[in-house]
Amino acid sequence: MKKEPYRVNLPESGMVDYWYNVRVDMKERHDPYLNPGTGKPLKKEELLPVFCAQSVEQEYNETDRHISIPGGVMDYYRTFRPSPLVRAFNLERELDTPAKIFFKFEGGNTSGSHKLNSAAAQAFFAKEQGLKGLATETGAGQWGTALSMACAFYGLDLTVFMVKISAQQKPYRREVMRTYGAEVIESPSPFTGVGKRMLARDPESGGSLGCAISEAVERAVSTSGVRYALGSVLNHVLLHQAVIGSEAKRAMEQLGEYPDVVIGCAGGGSNLGGILCEYMAERLSGKSKVRFVAAEPSSCPSLTRGKYAYDFCDMGHVTPLAKMYTLGSGFLPSPIHAGGLRYHGMSPVLSKLYHDGYIDKAVAVPQNAAFAAAKHFARAEGILPAPESAHAIAAAIDEAMAFKERGERGVILFNLSGTGYFDMAAYAAYNEGRLTDHIPSDGELEQGFAGLREIAANAGQESV
Ligand SMILES: *Cc1c(COP(=O)(O)O)cnc(C)c1O
Repeated sequence: MKKEPYRVNLPESGMVDYWYNVRVDMKERHDPYLNPGTGKPLKKEELLPVFCAQSVEQEYNETDRHISIPGGVMDYYRTFRPSPLVRAFNLERELDTPAKIFFKFEGGNTSGSHKLNSAAAQAFFAKEQGLKGLATETGAGQWGTALSMACAFYGLDLTVFMVKISAQQKPYRREVMRTYGAEVIESPSPFTGVGKRMLARDPESGGSLGCAISEAVERAVSTSGVRYALGSVLNHVLLHQAVIGSEAKRAMEQLGEYPDVVIGCAGGGSNLGGILCEYMAERLSGKSKVRFVAAEPSSCPSLTRGKYAYDFCDMGHVTPLAKMYTLGSGFLPSPIHAGGLRYHGMSPVLSKLYHDGYIDKAVAVPQNAAFAAAKHFARAEGILPAPESAHAIAAAIDEAMAFKERGERGVILFNLSGTGYFDMAAYAAYNEGRLTDHIPSDGELEQGFAGLREIAANAGQESV
């Protein structure tokens, strides 16, 4: 019998009431956002028509290390936080590794992922500002679902532009959003300029995340009392996700454990940025030698094969430019099932940390390897992981095996960002051997990079 506890899950007392702002402790700040028209750093005021005022404030906040979570957000957090920290005893035994494996499980709420942490904050800020509602996009559906829940909680309208192909592949995701009261529009739609142009070019278009972002931004800036909300990439989203890491650190301390390596999957970077944050503070100050690993899909390898360059955050080029690891905003990833990881860029904060060597390693995981890890994990630990999270599991298993090979004890902490209940079509494809591993050739990536050179030239930046 194991005497050590499986879970640290102390209601209330395990919660934190602040968001830790890693930018305050970074040696160098990330390069500023640029206005693509002028090539000049973007001013706060330029974002106010797009985002809630408080989100913009937080986006630019590089001075407050700890930001109190407003009471109204805590009220909602209490319905699904703290999330459990779990020791993967069974997986450890099966791998026969001397390493201890811990994971923080963010999939316990109805939306099934960590995205609710930021959705709650952004919806609360919109309500406080007296807005009528929010507009957003969703690809795989997790962000749209999370924001639908949060908007229902705070009594706000929500319009979700859902990538058409995803809406058709995941009708149940759409129903969850509608149940919480959101209006779900398939993108490209005939209701925005961007959507109309897209449909004129290709009436059969299945849409893309980049196009849906452009449609949602257009809807927000052209409707009074409505702002846009984004579920990843930006500084304020990473800030909200810091609750994951702060809670995890608190729970690990109760167990008397300190990780040697912290792992997360990386799409736009928000769950990884969340789990690593307070450990990063100790690494930056020289107090700790903890390592950080980002796991991304081989089909959309922005950290492992992308360029560190200024790029648009969307395909329709309505957003500012951000300096980040990117495959180019024109890059169209293959339709892999880990939809939440199909993003061409990466959080500017994580990009900077990676560029400066504070995120030690990025690994690209092929889709079949991710599902193999997911299945292994599900059978050992009982939780059916989201395909996105499966990339982090694959990386964690690799680290556990490396400890074994070196004959070293070690402590691994990874973020299990969500559950896979809405991804059963992908699991079916895996179980039937129909999943393919598309790894883009250098030639395919070159097309996206060509766009980056053009963007650099237009913005007066050095070419990449
Ligand atoms: C959206 C999503 C991701 C990827 O987004 P990040 O911003 O990189 O965290 C990962 N896992 C799940 C379950 C998601 O829903």
